[in-house]
Amino acid sequence: MKFPSLNTQILLSAFFGIVIGFGLIACGKESAITQTSLYTANLVGTLFIDLLKMVLIPLVFTSISVGVANLQAHKQIHRVWISTLSFFAFSMAIAIVLGLGANQIFHPGQGLHLEMFQNAMSHFEAKQQTPAAFFTEFLHGLFMNPFAALAQGEVLAVLIFALFLGVALVIGGERYKNILILLQEFLEIVMQMVRWIMTLAPLGIMALLIKLVVTQDLALLGTLGTFVAVVMGTTLFHAVIALPLILFIVTGMSPLRFWRGAREALVTAFATSSSSATLPITLRCVEHNLHVRKEIAQFVIPLGATINMDGTALYEASAALFVANLVGIDLNLTQQLIVFFTAMFAAIGAPGIPSAGMVTMVMVLQSVGLPAEAIAILLPIDRLLDTLRTATNVEGDMIGSLVVQKFVKGEKNV
Ligand code: ASP
Repeated sequence: MKFPSLNTQILLSAFFGIVIGFGLIACGKESAITQTSLYTANLVGTLFIDLLKMVLIPLVFTSISVGVANLQAHKQIHRVWISTLSFFAFSMAIAIVLGLGANQIFHPGQGLHLEMFQNAMSHFEAKQQTPAAFFTEFLHGLFMNPFAALAQGEVLAVLIFALFLGVALVIGGERYKNILILLQEFLEIVMQMVRWIMTLAPLGIMALLIKLVVTQDLALLGTLGTFVAVVMGTTLFHAVIALPLILFIVTGMSPLRFWRGAREALVTAFATSSSSATLPITLRCVEHNLHVRKEIAQFVIPLGATINMDGTALYEASAALFVANLVGIDLNLTQQLIVFFTAMFAAIGAPGIPSAGMVTMVMVLQSVGLPAEAIAILLPIDRLLDTLRTATNVEGDMIGSLVVQKFVKGEKNV
């Protein structure tokens, strides 16, 4: 019998993970079988994420420095930089506009009784974070002792140092060629480890989805149903219509062809809720299945996993308006513009880890005078919403690499 491909195994395991999760709920959340399965699923799922995180920092470090060195050597860096950042800003702007627009149509939260949530809010103390404080903290985190950043897993600081290193390697030219070769070989070794870890992906994804389904608070989900449906619907619209349309217009690639190549990464992002943890797999999909040239993939994907978050940007804007509806405040156009910019900034600043968007959302709420404590209402349902928004974040990165590749095509030497 022929063993199904890894791609098929991942899809099947995601499906079975969800089915088993509902099966366990039917057995009763407190039953012995559910508790034992939950323990096992938690253990396996966490180990899978740990393995991905193990290779994350070496991967970001080597892939960005080697990627930048290769681009710089070909005098393409300006074009790549500009098209990458413009694409990131453009796609996040569309996501936010969709989030704001959906609110105008559906008004989630209006009519919900605030007293229901008052209790949750009064027991929750949100860390105060004004846009100015957030900005300072963000800038402060960019430049760190690289050894501390590597050891502490500070992805953004590692990325910045690797950018510097890549440029320095090129300026040094022949003198530093051994170091560049060393980094290149190290990157190949890390990618080999990614291949090994990928063989465990079906198991890890199944475990994570079992845990996700079993630990959901279904009653609360019902109460916040309209909001959940609006956020999920808008995110899906962005992921299934808007992003593929941009891809098709710019590169001519059909959405089906894209999804076939991207699905391992999308399903992993869905299950792990972490763009960072998914990064090794995203990079592999983009290089192997979607045939993005190494030097572009190695630059755009790690950068995108850190700063390009369409799903998060959309969510930040939707959630702010939801809270405004809940407390009965009608945000005027200027306030919506403030939400637009702070949501984009909050998405850029959010690290690619589960529920990171919740932390940076405090800033968005405070920027227009909404109670930051309101995130207490959203936290219990965040794990569920984080699935789709992380997959959308990762999709945006992959489409970004294809778009950038198209923009630099035609130029010789890349
Ligand atoms: N979990 C998201 C990611 O890793 C970030 C967020 O919480 O929005 O991309």
